[in-house]
Amino acid sequence: MSKKSSTDCPICGFEAATSEDMYCAPHEKASANIRSAFSVWKLAYGNLTYPRFIEKLSKLPQAGTRTREVAKFLLRQER
Ligand SMILES: [Zn+2]
Repeated sequence: MSKKSSTDCPICGFEAATSEDMYCAPHEKASANIRSAFSVWKLAYGNLTYPRFIEKLSKLPQAGTRTREVAKFLLRQER
């Protein structure tokens, strides 16, 4: 039996960049963008909740493909 030491990205299954990161490098980058975008949106919308934010983001065509993929993944985690 071989013990798996690396983590796979839960979105694309690609090997995660580091053991601390949950996602692969591109999805980790998208996830960081989502976190910083939330603080901006929260200020703009006032009473925006995180689940509502990622729901909007997952449907936003302007958001990159990877950003939408991470948003959809986070949305599934929320439910
Ligand atoms: Zn990935």
